[in-house]
Amino acid sequence: MEMYDAMRAAFGHRQWWPGDGALEICVGAILTQNTNWSNVEKAIANLKAADAMSVTHLHKLPHESLAELIRPAGYYNIKAKRLKNFIAKVYAEYGDDIEAFLDRSVETLRVELLGVNGIGPETADSIILYAAGKPTFVVDAYTGRILLRHGLISPEDTYESIKELCESSLPTDVELWNDFHAQFVAVGARHCKPRPRCDGCPLERFDHDISAALDG
Ligand code: SF4
Repeated sequence: MEMYDAMRAAFGHRQWWPGDGALEICVGAILTQNTNWSNVEKAIANLKAADAMSVTHLHKLPHESLAELIRPAGYYNIKAKRLKNFIAKVYAEYGDDIEAFLDRSVETLRVELLGVNGIGPETADSIILYAAGKPTFVVDAYTGRILLRHGLISPEDTYESIKELCESSLPTDVELWNDFHAQFVAVGARHCKPRPRCDGCPLERFDHDISAALDG
């Protein structure tokens, strides 16, 4: 919590996730893999301009048309497949009602999402935390790098063990976990890069060792 307070004091509340409604957050979480957010925004703008931002429309859109619309997000053929896989699951069970799909326990939703080809833990947890508004901690590369450099995890730690550490160290609070992840992203993007800029970083006063970074 002390680390959170330091980041929050430096950056303010991050107001995540940038997205208009649950479906758009899910789409953004899938499209943001391996690209930056400005490219995702262009892809989402294309989907909206084509009036395709609904489960039914996305389901009925031919793969080629979907791939073309999301082209700005990169890896558009693979991402169109992943999006189609996700949408097919929602559509088969809940039709156009994404809210009903999301309105289940964290455990059930996580198992369902991880069962979709192309959705890994980070994307699944992003959907659960930001689209469903349920408590699961999102771990990304920034989270791992920051915690490793601060001696809180070891290089052998897995996604699940880092998530467990964060969840068990913090009060269970969706709002807190929502903004905590966003703060880690801000620190990672601005300071804790492969070549770190500790000077001026809000976490500088906490013990750290930059040689602990193992960036692949
Ligand atoms: S103080 Fe340095 S090691 Fe710690 S998060 Fe900031 S940049 Fe990374």
